[in-house]
Amino acid sequence: MSSGDEVVVALDVGGTGMKCALVRPDGRTVHAERHATEAARGPEAVIGTILDVAEGLAGKARAAGLTPAACGIAVPGVVDEARGVAVWSANVGFRDVPLRELAQARLGLPTALGHDVRAGGLAEARLGGGRDGGHVLFVAIGTGIAAAHVVDGSAAVGAHGAAGEIGHILVRPDGPRCGCGRPGCLEAVASASAIGRRYTELSGAPTTAAEVADRAAAGEPLAGRVWREAVEALADGLATAQALFDVETIVIGGGLAQAGPRLLDPLRGALRERLTFHREPRLVAAALGDEAGCLGAALLALDARP
Ligand SMILES: [Zn+2]
Repeated sequence: MSSGDEVVVALDVGGTGMKCALVRPDGRTVHAERHATEAARGPEAVIGTILDVAEGLAGKARAAGLTPAACGIAVPGVVDEARGVAVWSANVGFRDVPLRELAQARLGLPTALGHDVRAGGLAEARLGGGRDGGHVLFVAIGTGIAAAHVVDGSAAVGAHGAAGEIGHILVRPDGPRCGCGRPGCLEAVASASAIGRRYTELSGAPTTAAEVADRAAAGEPLAGRVWREAVEALADGLATAQALFDVETIVIGGGLAQAGPRLLDPLRGALRERLTFHREPRLVAAALGDEAGCLGAALLALDARP
């Protein structure tokens, strides 16, 4: 077997969809497909789909004359990467699922199980927006806010598989209640959902974060205020993160990053105001879009090859 025909099978499993691909050792995607997760069917059915899709991809690789060498699967929630167990996930319903073992048994390939945001961070740090920095913090801002701290190409997992939950940094003790139960968490104030919710509450008209960004840019005062409040809270969270991690680059991803300079420019300024002796990190937009998690799963697979 020459390494020229080698690929890995990569899956990024989300609450609504799965992004799946066959990826070359150089990070190039040779085949990509998407499937619905249909989490409402329950975890057993979702596991069945994951295994079917992974097996199907390995079969497609072989049919194309390629050699599947390993499999990488990224899932949301709390993930024990060392044991290969999906410990807990709110949106997919996993409870202690030994997904690595199950995939290995089905595919006969070495398999790595990873966490979706950590996998995305790995890809952004190695192949995307954080490419040239040894210490990178990837921050995904969407429905929630989560981060991955990547040092020299590997993401810190934490003692319990839950490193990087910066969405639950306390930034506004009197603020709105977070999904975790406590008032004032960063993601309760500054996630895309929180921004839409806040504007909707003040204006009475259902509005998304993207629309708030547009209206703020167009000079609407209420949208400008809501956007500014979110940016200030994000800057508080990132200043705390920088005090903890001292990174070279912060890569902002997730849905809110689509606001581009309308988010990054004021955020950079607000972060600068908050830093004293800490070095200011480079603040950049993610480069890999919603494929980061799948590419990260591929990197985990490549690392898991014999
Ligand atoms: Zn919280």
